[in-house]
Amino acid sequence: MKIAIVGGGLMGLVLAQKISSSTKATVKVLEQDTLPGGLSTYHNYGDFTWDKFYHAITPTDTDLIDFLSEIGLEEQIQWRRSLTGFYENKKFHSVSSSFEFLLFPLLGPIDKMRLGYTILKGSRTDDWKALEKIHVTDWLIKLGGKKTYDKFWAPMLHAKLGENHKKVSAVFIWTYIKRLFKARSSAAKKEHMAYVNGGYKTIFDRLEENLKQKGSNILLDSKVENISPDPNGGMNINYNGTIEHFDKVVFTSPLNVMEKVTAPELYNISKSKKPIDYLGVVCLILVTKKPITPFYVLNIGDNDTPFTGVIGMSSLVDLEETANQHITYFPKYVGQDNELWSKSDEEITKNFLNGVKYLYPDFDEADMISSHVHRAFKVQPMQVLNYSEIVPKVNTPHPDFYVLNTSQFVSESVNNNSVVTHVEKFMKNFKNDIESYSEKSIAQ
Ligand SMILES: Cc1cc2nc3c(=O)[nH]c(=O)nc-3n(C[C@H](O)[C@H](O)[C@H](O)COP(=O)(O)OP(=O)(O)OC[C@H]3O[C@@H](n4cnc5c(N)ncnc54)[C@H](O)[C@@H]3O)c2cc1C
Repeated sequence: MKIAIVGGGLMGLVLAQKISSSTKATVKVLEQDTLPGGLSTYHNYGDFTWDKFYHAITPTDTDLIDFLSEIGLEEQIQWRRSLTGFYENKKFHSVSSSFEFLLFPLLGPIDKMRLGYTILKGSRTDDWKALEKIHVTDWLIKLGGKKTYDKFWAPMLHAKLGENHKKVSAVFIWTYIKRLFKARSSAAKKEHMAYVNGGYKTIFDRLEENLKQKGSNILLDSKVENISPDPNGGMNINYNGTIEHFDKVVFTSPLNVMEKVTAPELYNISKSKKPIDYLGVVCLILVTKKPITPFYVLNIGDNDTPFTGVIGMSSLVDLEETANQHITYFPKYVGQDNELWSKSDEEITKNFLNGVKYLYPDFDEADMISSHVHRAFKVQPMQVLNYSEIVPKVNTPHPDFYVLNTSQFVSESVNNNSVVTHVEKFMKNFKNDIESYSEKSIAQ
């Protein structure tokens, strides 16, 4: 049996690994880029290769950690203490342990208690269905008050979603609370995060190797142009100027691509047909001789910087991973119609560098080894009110076509642990579909 997976991001590759290691089917992953990995892919920064965007593993990412063990990378996971900072009114504050939380100077004792209550309530709630009916701002103000919202939550939301945070439901911050506040290890109540030696490249190299051994493969530089049902069963895929027949197709790329390459009868979108909006990210990356920030994540509480956060990757990752150079990411999350998309890399670099100098007056351009601008147009589906009602179903009207992508994360944030969880849930039924297909073929 031949299965095509459209999209060689982490979703497509975890799925390919699961299918080829647990069934007799062979898999072809069709990926339009020249590297595997999609949003989690890697980049050559000159003297070292590291993630194109920043990725960290948290202690609650148990499905991802189990998956890494499954593919033999357990020993490569490196846990480190990580620091989170807040910038407001020209001052940096660390909020990286429960103790520092108590000292957080921007809130008085009562507001801090209300903040603690919000986090406790959030981490103990499981009823996401109720949360998707409330705007994130309304929920946070109701639980923690306006001051806690303005001083603490708004900068965090801004770092993740930019101006668009006003549109999302409380599910967005609830998933964030569940994932990140549990990142503090219960023993020390201090934040820890991890990376894999060599970054995500190590993971993709391993997956590529495993697939090859099972007779499956990843076809890079292979943009899917069309997917259509074959009258005799299965699907035909048009890519690289050829048409190939597959018994089953799983589509893992963003929804706008699906709408381009398939007919509307092939997928099952909501009753309301409301389109799903995605946020994208524009990111300046600086490779420098000296560190820029001690924090892994810096949330920015004023609006004078052109980016929405600072990620000090080298505060987490050992320096030998990056040729003793420091790598820092300056992301800005923006909507699809933002003017930033039309700016050149030079314009973005100049604009963002002004922000770096504003935030870090001691920053010296002479310390810069290189700068890079990375963009991703479709990153974060916007979890608006009643989002679960508008997402596409995994099973479609065609028995041989499935949709499996991050737009279906109704009660999780977009992260790689959720990617693995989503694939594992899918595999439970998909394995049965593969088995009954094989039995049918033998009977014929
Ligand atoms: C800035 C940033 C920071 C992040 N930080 C973290 C983090 O710290 N921790 C974490 O767990 N997660 C993080 N994530 C999220 C993580 O990257 C995503 O969860 C994950 O990459 C989603 O994978 P995916 O395969 O579902 O989607 P994608 O990676 O988008 O994969 C879709 C693939 O489809 C391909 N494609 C599109 N059209 C076609 C076509 N026509 N034909 C063939 N192929 C096509 C694309 O090229 C792409 O490779 C971050 C993401 C970003 C952008």
